Formats: sequence, C-alpha cells, structure tokens
Amino acid sequence: MSTSDIFQFEIQARDGKARAGLFQTPHGVLQTPVFAPVGTQATVKAVTPAQLSELGASLVLANTYHLYLRPGDQLVAEMGGLHSFMQWNGPLLTDSGGFQVFSLNEIRKVDDDGVTFKSHIDGSMHRFTPESSIAIQENLGADIIMAFDECAPPYDREYIQRAMQRTHAWAERCMAAKTRPDQALFGIVQGGVFADLRSESARFISSLGFPGHAIGGLSVGETKGEMNEMLEEVNEILPEDRPRYLMGVGSPEDLVNGVLRGVDIFDCVLPTRLARHQAAMTRTGRMNLMNAGYAKDPRPIDETCACYTCRTFTRAYLRHLIVAKEMLASTLVSIHNLHTLLQLMRDLRQAIFEGRLDTFAAEFLQQYTL
Ligand SMILES: [Zn+2]
Repeated sequence: MSTSDIFQFEIQARDGKARAGLFQTPHGVLQTPVFAPVGTQATVKAVTPAQLSELGASLVLANTYHLYLRPGDQLVAEMGGLHSFMQWNGPLLTDSGGFQVFSLNEIRKVDDDGVTFKSHIDGSMHRFTPESSIAIQENLGADIIMAFDECAPPYDREYIQRAMQRTHAWAERCMAAKTRPDQALFGIVQGGVFADLRSESARFISSLGFPGHAIGGLSVGETKGEMNEMLEEVNEILPEDRPRYLMGVGSPEDLVNGVLRGVDIFDCVLPTRLARHQAAMTRTGRMNLMNAGYAKDPRPIDETCACYTCRTFTRAYLRHLIVAKEMLASTLVSIHNLHTLLQLMRDLRQAIFEGRLDTFAAEFLQQYTL
C-alpha cells in the first residue's frame, strides 16, 4: 500500500473555517481536531499508557532529539520500534529534532547542509541533516514524522527569511530521503510573524505534495494576536484536504482559537509540565493547588470534571500530596490536566458537527481567564 492509501484524511463536517475529520494511520484513526500529549523521552511524564488510553488520548508525540541522544534510535529500532518500546499502540508522531537543536543547545554551526550541535546531556558533538533526521525518525517508526526545519526567533526578519529558505530546501531533501511508506511525512511552514513570509512559505510547502502540513515557529514569544493572524494567513493557502498541525501549542484558549481557524492537530507539554508545578488547568483558568486556602477544601479540583482525579480526590488531599512531595501528586494532576484538554477537543469537535462552534468558542473564551 502506498502512503496516500494508508493516510486518508476525510472531512466529516465544517463550521466556518473549522473542520471535524478522520485521519487514518497504521495504528488507528485520529478523530480531529485532536490534541496530542507529549512524551518527550518516550513517556508522557507521570502517566502510564493505560491511563492515557483511559483518558481517551489518541495521538502521542515523542521527541526525536531526545531519543536520538538517549537511548539512541538504533536501540529503539532493535527493540521493535517506538510503539513496542514504550507500549503505546495508538498513533505516534515524532518531531524532526530541529526545534530542540535550536532551543536547547549551544549551536556550533548551522549551514545549508545541516546543524552541528553539542548534546545537553554530555557535551558531545553531533550533527543533524535533513537526511539524518529522516533516518532517525524511520528507526523510531512513528506514524507521522516531520521535515527537518530551522526555527528562528519570531521578530528577526532577516534571519527568519534565511531560515525559511533553508527550511524549504530541507523539506525537499526530507521528501527525497524518506523510504518507509507506512509513515506520513509532514512539511513545515515557517516565516515568523511576517504575513508575506508566511504565505510564501505556505505556498512553497504546499506545492511539494506532503500528506499533511505543520505550522511551526509559533508560540515562541509572539503575541496571541500575531499567532492568530499568522494562522489565518497560512490556512488560507494550505490545501483543505490535508490535515494541518500547529506545533507546540496547547493552552486551552490557543486550542479554541486554532480550531476556529482550521487547525486539526495540536501538541504541547503544558498539561503535564503545569501538573508537575502544582497547577491545575480548568475551563475557567489555572489553579495553584499549593494555595493554603485549599488545605481543608473537600471539593475536587473541578466539580464539573469527569476525570478519575476529580471523581475520587479532594483539593485538600492533592494539596497534602504536593506539600509532602509525593509522586502521586504529579500523576493525579497530570490526569486531570490531560483530561481537561482532551475533553475540550471532544467538545470542540462536537460543536463543529452541530454547527455551534462560534457560540461555544465565544462562551469558552469569555469565562476563561489567562
Ligand atoms: Zn478532573
């Protein structure tokens, strides 16, 4: 079977620019719009795969950069690939390693061929090229893989333009390097906060015939207004019949704003990262569970939430676990935060089917405080 036979994307309903769809992968069908929890080191921190399934998670992201450095993509391949290694049998996505190379490292050299960088673990020197990023992602074996791109700071126009051109050349090389038909390679649109660069990038990347497209380089320091404007610009151009993935974005209001503008896939470390910092995500904003006011509070985090944590435990107990530095605190708050985002995506999807997304979004954004 060819890649296009395997990875079929069907739009089931539209509401304004938003779409509800089904994206077929070798490890199951994604109901879009969808939020992917992030498992950087082949584990969504503090949560088991069984708990993820119970939460209704469908797509999980893992980071190529981290797994290449440790335990090594070759080792993962020898252990049967990432699905089997981490025991997540649903759809998986790996990023290209580009974002981490540019954000976590002392970069030694970026040139038109690739990037030389120093490992954040042991200081050893490494090099990624479009070809090696694809080879690593083929060893890892995720269902969706990403083109190697250069992510530049959002406001430096000259640098962004250079990085965008490099990203375009690398996208073509990634496509040529890819060999596995059971993986869908997505191209990435860059261009910072500049509408003309974004549309140039969207035109070029969509001309290459990728089965899906990602929007990169957002949520890296620009304003929410700029992000929304860029999404509108890019989604005007990206083909309707392929999934669109907004990378690294996942606060509740960003999910709502992205879906309204025609985004189908999101991922973010936010729910699990906040959980490890005692913050619960709710439909109205964030709660700091360390707050002394919760010490004798018999209520769950969110009385309207149906997650295991809220069905079972009080704020008083969660606060106690946090104060006592018990590991279970991270697990229970992660379960709640992931549920909040996954349920929000299910509600957005339902609102699209029922043609009431605008009302749903307006009500949501009105009661949500940053
Ligand atoms: Zn909950």
